[in-house]
Amino acid sequence: RVIVVGSVNLDLLYRVPHLPRAGETLLGSQLQRLSGGKGGNQAHAAAKIAPPGVTVAMVAGVGDDDAGALLRSDLASAGVDVAGVRTVPGVSGTALIAVDDGGENTIVVIPGANSEWPESAAASIDLRPGDVVVLQLEVPFAVVESVVARADELGARVVLNAAPLDRRAADLLAGVDVLVVNEIEAGELFGFDAGLEADDVAGIAADLTTDLVVTLGARGVVFAPAGGAAISHPAFAVDAIDTVGAGDAFVGGLAAALAASASLESAVRWGSAAGALTTTVRGARHPGLTREAVETLAGP
Ligand code: ADP
Repeated sequence: RVIVVGSVNLDLLYRVPHLPRAGETLLGSQLQRLSGGKGGNQAHAAAKIAPPGVTVAMVAGVGDDDAGALLRSDLASAGVDVAGVRTVPGVSGTALIAVDDGGENTIVVIPGANSEWPESAAASIDLRPGDVVVLQLEVPFAVVESVVARADELGARVVLNAAPLDRRAADLLAGVDVLVVNEIEAGELFGFDAGLEADDVAGIAADLTTDLVVTLGARGVVFAPAGGAAISHPAFAVDAIDTVGAGDAFVGGLAAALAASASLESAVRWGSAAGALTTTVRGARHPGLTREAVETLAGP
């Protein structure tokens, strides 16, 4: 089983001729309401491509507003078990995303229900040995910390996507099995400049007790099993039109493969294929993502 613990957001995207200045009123257009949030996107990708026998569940909070109902039903339609999605009084997590004619954007995130977690959140998650628990950092850090500790104690595997970056993630690594970060996050967490190469990743991984996966966008991915040698994998060649959500789809694909007992190397290939396919559509979730499409690129 894949259990994704984290955030769900309603993304409100709109076009503006230019980004508004203080005090300015503008006419926007092309308003879109899309389900998003790193956790939700990861669960969506994992459920779309999960092999037979692998189930995907989401543990999250949504508000008691219409956005909450939409967020829940979009996940359920993708095949995600939403029994662990709590409804809390107030607004759902919302991201207001303005994109101007030059492609520049401004994003305001209102965490809403993503910041409302009961004290008992970690203890009440049904976790079993062998489960793959996936976390990101869009919910309170204390929640992530206690879920990692509980998963570790119960013998579940923990995949931590340390995004958006919080340096305290470094303190959690003893309980993490696979750490997934992009190049910028890896740089900030481990003190590297951009242009990370396989040797750098090997150098970082040598001191870690977790497997390390660093995604490099169109340059592909470098991964190293705990204390082992680094392996580079180029990106799959696709017609990329929008890279939003590539990293989330990568994590979802990786987790689905790990839950099916794939090796780290095949899981990285599945993640790369899910990431690549997601860049071929607009938006963070690829509605047409399938296991067949992933296997065509990445192999079984
Ligand atoms: P993030 O969205 O977190 O910044 P990346 O941009 O590194 O993550 O993308 C995650 C993965 O998605 C990459 O490692 C790669 O496998 C795949 N990917 C991203 N961009 C492209 C692209 N333009 N073409 C093909 N694959 C891509």
